Amino acid sequence: MVGTSREPKITLDQSDISLAALKVVRRLSEEGFDAYLVGGCVRDLLLNQKPKDFDVATNATPQEVHRLFRNSRIIGRRFQIAHVRFGREIIEVATFRGQHDPNQSSESGHILRDNVFGSFEEDGLRRDFTVNALYYDAISDTILDPTGKGLADLQAKKLNLIGEPEIRFQEDPVRMLRAVRFMAKLNFSISADLQKQIRTSAHLLGEIPPARLFEETLKLFMNGHALSTFESLKTHHLMPLLFPTLASEGQNAQLVAEALASTDARIAQDMPVTPAFLFAAFLWEGFNQHKDRLIKVEGKTPIDASHMAADMVFLAQQAIVAIPKRFSIPAREIWLLQDRLNQQVGKRPYKLLTHKRFRAAYDFLLLRHESGVPLASTCDWWTTFQSADPETQQQMTTPKRRKKRKKKTPKALQKSSEEQPASV
Ligand code: ATP
Ligand code: MG
Repeated sequence: MVGTSREPKITLDQSDISLAALKVVRRLSEEGFDAYLVGGCVRDLLLNQKPKDFDVATNATPQEVHRLFRNSRIIGRRFQIAHVRFGREIIEVATFRGQHDPNQSSESGHILRDNVFGSFEEDGLRRDFTVNALYYDAISDTILDPTGKGLADLQAKKLNLIGEPEIRFQEDPVRMLRAVRFMAKLNFSISADLQKQIRTSAHLLGEIPPARLFEETLKLFMNGHALSTFESLKTHHLMPLLFPTLASEGQNAQLVAEALASTDARIAQDMPVTPAFLFAAFLWEGFNQHKDRLIKVEGKTPIDASHMAADMVFLAQQAIVAIPKRFSIPAREIWLLQDRLNQQVGKRPYKLLTHKRFRAAYDFLLLRHESGVPLASTCDWWTTFQSADPETQQQMTTPKRRKKRKKKTPKALQKSSEEQPASV
């Protein structure tokens, strides 16, 4: 390969590579095409990390790939790629891409169409970061570094954009979010100039369709490094562009940090996680502001105010990050259950225990407490109630005080209120 033969030979342990990806590369190469593993999988393998997925770049067109693999289909409108399926694993095979046509950009330079095939070298240059433009030739067991900087940057733990940062962020502002994500995931640094450029270009994220920002949001927070990604997004002033109602400091930022840390801990233990819980935390402050105003200013009942506030907060958020119903509905259920967790007498607590969102609502209550809201007695009550035997549960839900109160004289009542600590 031109310009790459001078690179020192670095090999990978092929037993770490997906068999499906190796099959695709070998088959393409048998047919006379160039085919390489590329992007995050090569970067992660060189860093001794487990790749999330395996991507292949080739000079075969999507139609040629499709002809070779019966288990494939062509997807994408902006740029066609082939998906080759092996059971549950999908190998994404992309044809080398060339420089985009400048006439296919928006006024601000945002690339609208990116559908020009190109050479191997061009494909390297249009990728985002030097460390993401490393290719692995599985046949000769060699790493190719068409920018000439990827391996050195990988070694130095530096995230460098390929090309002129101002233009590269104009072409695709999502690259700023990707920079933050990779910094957190890989523990890499970026230069002061790149930090400055992020500050200058951040507003361009407003051009990105909400559906794409939703996909990016999942990648930012469901990757096992959510807390450090969040801190970095705050440092680079990007968080308000995604979730404007979330304050950067204070109790709610603390609640979000707790929710992210718990998501990371669950992922580390292979426990199930849902983004609904994170969205509930991100938007909790906005929800409460609307709710308080609706109760105090508009005289709504707490239940009506809660429903209306949830509608308002999601309506505003959907214009930026399109959160699908499968996540927004559970998030609002978590919110609406918070008030119901104060109902601890009669049959209601039993009913709440069987609610499909009880566990998430209880976890959310604990996080609110950990973030500094004084909810110790409610948390303790539910912690005990869940695992108590039926007799204890019955005692806990029997409205004792109210019965006694009826019989008490005003004097006795005064005495008992002095003895009992105020409940939260
Ligand atoms: P991971 O899969 O671990 O999140 P990745 O680097 O593989 O990281 P993908 O989104 O899977 O990220 O993209 C695969 C490759 O495609 C990247 O490594 C990069 O080379 C290229 N790429 C992805 N998105 C962009 C972009 N917005 N601009 C330029 N190149 C991109
Ligand atoms: Mg990838």
